[in-house]
Amino acid sequence: MSDKGFCDLHTHTIASDGSDSPSDLIKKAKEAGLRAVAITDHDTLAGLTEARDACSKYEIELVPGIELSLLGPRGNMHLLGYYIDPDSKELQKVLDGVQKARAERNPKILNLLKGLGIDIKMSELEQMAKGGQIGRPHIARAMVEKGYVKNVSQAFDRYLKKDGPAYAPKSILEPKEAIEAIHKAGGVAVLAHPISLEPEPLTLLDGFIKTWTQYGLDGIECYYSEHSPDFTEYCLNLCRKFGLITTGGSDYHGKAKPYIKLGVGKGNLSIPYELVEGLKERLQSVRNADS
Ligand code: AMP
Ligand code: ZN
Ligand code: FE
Ligand code: FE
Repeated sequence: MSDKGFCDLHTHTIASDGSDSPSDLIKKAKEAGLRAVAITDHDTLAGLTEARDACSKYEIELVPGIELSLLGPRGNMHLLGYYIDPDSKELQKVLDGVQKARAERNPKILNLLKGLGIDIKMSELEQMAKGGQIGRPHIARAMVEKGYVKNVSQAFDRYLKKDGPAYAPKSILEPKEAIEAIHKAGGVAVLAHPISLEPEPLTLLDGFIKTWTQYGLDGIECYYSEHSPDFTEYCLNLCRKFGLITTGGSDYHGKAKPYIKLGVGKGNLSIPYELVEGLKERLQSVRNADS
């Protein structure tokens, strides 16, 4: 039990592919008893202003964040950026590139689906996303609503997963460039959910982390809804080995992933507030190194 309370450092709102507005998410985080919450929408900072206002109202600490989609060595690579400056020109340039790649990718996926007899229109996705970043979860939800698949998991398994029949790659951003962009925006760069890199054998991770530490990586998201206790332990050891900080988050998406709850994930998480203190300490050293 942490006597300083608990936090959740990985959540999504309607600014990307979550289903809650930033205000609703913050309200739920307060109700869940969390002391601090990070909003980490995919490739956008659009939810942060509303989140900040809601955090003042509900008296809960905001950790402003983002989750960047990268072109990694294996599986899916995502990088979390915390305490970034929302006005950073360098980061905005990177985000423009990624958002453009995302926008070009969605019609490609819809075309592939069309060839498989599945009719989803761009306008349907736009309506669902309400101006937020459109991603595969929106396409999956549209497929469920129109009766093509039973649920979101089936949409991914049969069609949308990496190398599935309706898959198209999304990002053009390399790890080095992404880590540097986060640092230039005054933030801390943390590898999200290393399990999604599909590290088999596990020792592959050591090599990846070694390289990214040389690029300036600051931390690893060790506590995560889809990490087993053994895998979490492996990541904690990597943090010790490479002098990185540890973070943790549920990857809450609201209705888009109903089995993941704020703060607790599938019931297996409890993330001590001390990790926020570790993030802030690291932030000081990143900013000192830059100035
Ligand atoms: P995208 O940004 O379009 O690449 O979509 C990434 C989102 O899809 C992330 O939030 C993932 O958690 C979600 N996702 C990836 N694979 C699956 C899956 N098999 N079932 C449900 N959601 C998934
Ligand atoms: Zn997502
Ligand atoms: Fe992710
Ligand atoms: Fe995420």
